[in-house]
Amino acid sequence: MTFTPISRTRTRELLDRHGLAPSRALGQNFLCDQGTVDKIVRLAEIEPGDRVIEIGPGLGALTAGLCRAKAKLTVVETDAYILPALREMVGHHEQAGTLRIIHDDATKLDWSELLGGVPSLVVANLPYNVSTPLVLDLVPAHPELHRWLVMVQRESGERLAAGPGSKIYGIPSVLLAYWGEARIVGSVGPDVFLPRPKVESVLVRIDRFSEPAYDVDFAQYSAVVRKAFGQRRKMLRRSLAGVVEPLQMEEIDIDPTTRPEQIHPAKWADLARVATFDTAERQDIEGENDQNVQGS
Ligand code: SAM
Repeated sequence: MTFTPISRTRTRELLDRHGLAPSRALGQNFLCDQGTVDKIVRLAEIEPGDRVIEIGPGLGALTAGLCRAKAKLTVVETDAYILPALREMVGHHEQAGTLRIIHDDATKLDWSELLGGVPSLVVANLPYNVSTPLVLDLVPAHPELHRWLVMVQRESGERLAAGPGSKIYGIPSVLLAYWGEARIVGSVGPDVFLPRPKVESVLVRIDRFSEPAYDVDFAQYSAVVRKAFGQRRKMLRRSLAGVVEPLQMEEIDIDPTTRPEQIHPAKWADLARVATFDTAERQDIEGENDQNVQGS
């Protein structure tokens, strides 16, 4: 089958022919620039035969690029209406047995069953409304997903990759740093999508560590981080009152008047080691902060 590059005209024509209108609720901004697809595939450093998971294949622009890189590809798409158009684009790979199309919601899927312990890469233009929760759920839970190359909104990507001292360093940055290293590896403007989003996008690479970065229980680390960033303008002696005493902070070389955005992940681990929560309080913090992850 001859290869036809993706373009704006071709994307619009495919949508029209299948009677589809891009859904804002599902974050449907379709890539329609072959150069950007090629850049993502190149940055993903796929070796032929690598198992790759794409979340949200949409009309298959990136899917086709991943198939050309000879990945063993599984895609997960929640929108049933888009599947015929997707199959028109890449159905021949499905028939050849190198592509598996799963119709499901990636936030509800049984990922352990899908992955079956096989090392896999995630390469995706993630649906923007669920990108941060997806990353923060899947990276901790699935060591098989050892490398990620994903496109997300600039703000979300910068938050995942931020380090101490930056205004956007927050819960996502510190939680992810326990499991892996996130870096921004590229920027993408709105013009390569149909429809054009209002915001810029970035490409984020996450290399998951084989072992957590810090020798401390993750639930405890997460609880301290969430409690402190829950009141991010307050000094630690205030926000962590009753959990870590100022004297304990001094003993581990942390100034109790510091604010959370100044604290390195290794220091969060030190705080977690000395923090005392009762179980009920820890659960409350998890619950309260879950909906704030995007904005913290
Ligand atoms: N990969 C395509 C591209 O680059 O042109 C489409 C990317 S578009 C930003 C996001 C895609 O994710 C859409 O196809 C949307 O239907 C799908 N999607 C949204 N929420 C999803 C979910 N919870 N699980 C799986 N797919 C989802």
